[in-house]
Amino acid sequence: MNISLDTLDEACSRRITRRDELNRTLEGISEALKYPEISLKINCVPLGIPEQDLCRVAFLARDYKVHVRFIEMMPIGMGKEFHGVSEKELLGILGKKLPRFSPYVGEPLGNGPCHYYDVDGFSGKIGFISAVSHKFCGECNRIRLTSQGFLKTCLQYAAGRDLRAMIRSGGSDEELKAVILEALAEKPDGHAFGGSLEKQKEDKTEKLCMAQIGG
Ligand code: SF4
Repeated sequence: MNISLDTLDEACSRRITRRDELNRTLEGISEALKYPEISLKINCVPLGIPEQDLCRVAFLARDYKVHVRFIEMMPIGMGKEFHGVSEKELLGILGKKLPRFSPYVGEPLGNGPCHYYDVDGFSGKIGFISAVSHKFCGECNRIRLTSQGFLKTCLQYAAGRDLRAMIRSGGSDEELKAVILEALAEKPDGHAFGGSLEKQKEDKTEKLCMAQIGG
């Protein structure tokens, strides 16, 4: 189970999420912790604002059996307005307050691109999903179906197929399958974050926000 939690500071949470629901999120986490058979992961996107107090979020993995994963902000939609924090910068920030880190080398935890660290005395692990500084597009097997029924084959691009329109115009299962395979064959090789805006316009870079994409 993945839960988004970008900060434990109430005012900062209000600013990031535009709602006053931090306590409800924490109640949800407490409830989930009652079921040790559920692997619980906290997802945190560092935004480069000190009030976020990322070390405080990381310490959840010391105090509870949860993995805390830091996800690099991708410059998609509103994400372009933030500088974000790279994995290297973040390791520097966490290293000032957390005990000794060492890369986790055990059985893979999940099927995703997250890499983990063991931290002395912590119950859970600290993970990093660093799509920008540690590009992992070469191993990407992800596609997404948006709430509007658009099959997206890469987060950065508007590439894909409008499956909802096809279904609503009476497309058969076979036609649908053929279109999905066609879209998969055209899946972009990877992102080009950091490319010029001109290039991104030519590239048909995604203009939607992550919340609209479901990324
Ligand atoms: S190929 Fe696209 S969806 Fe996959 S990891 Fe790269 S940017 Fe993300």
